[in-house]
Amino acid sequence: MKSISLFLIIIAAAVIPAGCSKKQSSAGRSFTAVCSFYPVYIIAKNVADGVPGISVKNMTPPFTGCLHDYSVTAEDMKHLEHADLFVTNGAGMESFLDKTAAKYPKLITVKLADGIECIIDEGKPNPHVWLSVSNAIVMTGNCVKAFIEADASNADTYRRNGERYIGKLSELKKEMDDALKPFGGKNIVTFHEAFPYFAKEYGLVIAAVVEHEPGVEPSAKEIAQTVLTVRKSKVKALFAEPQYPSSAAKTIAAETGSSIFTLDPAVTGDDALDAYIAIMRKNKETLIQALK
Ligand SMILES: [Zn+2]
Repeated sequence: MKSISLFLIIIAAAVIPAGCSKKQSSAGRSFTAVCSFYPVYIIAKNVADGVPGISVKNMTPPFTGCLHDYSVTAEDMKHLEHADLFVTNGAGMESFLDKTAAKYPKLITVKLADGIECIIDEGKPNPHVWLSVSNAIVMTGNCVKAFIEADASNADTYRRNGERYIGKLSELKKEMDDALKPFGGKNIVTFHEAFPYFAKEYGLVIAAVVEHEPGVEPSAKEIAQTVLTVRKSKVKALFAEPQYPSSAAKTIAAETGSSIFTLDPAVTGDDALDAYIAIMRKNKETLIQALK
């Protein structure tokens, strides 16, 4: 008798995992949040962590980087068709947004940059809002609200997750404020216009941006102009980005005797919940090293 019941227990244990896919873990429920790109994906992952039956997807492959001039692919459409929530940055980052919203009128779409006062560049909002930790905190709050609106049954978990992540971001903010505010007023030169929110947070002055169009090498004339600016503003450090390698940086560094450092705009990275925090911490260390 004893061996029969043991046998039944073993059978049951073997059967349960096979019949219990991820989607069915909450009474057959499934919920899919699709994110437009990496920075909002990491925020959404934090907010949705541990919610049963949820899946959070990054629509664009991790190497895509910023979505300037990005066109939605057939694959993306398939993702959006099955999505319950579309998490985007807004502030003009997803130029395709109006078209996709018209195509999927029932899909709840949230722009995490909503309510953030944008820096205007040449008449357009600069979309790189997440590079200020203060903004990342606002974005997390917006993300929590969107998940609760789309999936009220897990409101408590979203709220708790949001509080936990905002707590971590607040710690990061304090750490970065303490370390970087003493460098306020220093001139820096960056690549692609990703860093104005970051610079503003710490009172750094962006004296020049080397590459205005991501992926497009500046002309000889533009390089010469930047060399002049670097000399005039006594910039000691040029900040390149890992996603946008540039021979222009090397030319400018050689001409001006300045050094090249790497600042990461946090548009690519790993899947870890604390990935953004780790990237920003590394940026902090890089700036301390470059500006001291
Ligand atoms: Zn960008």
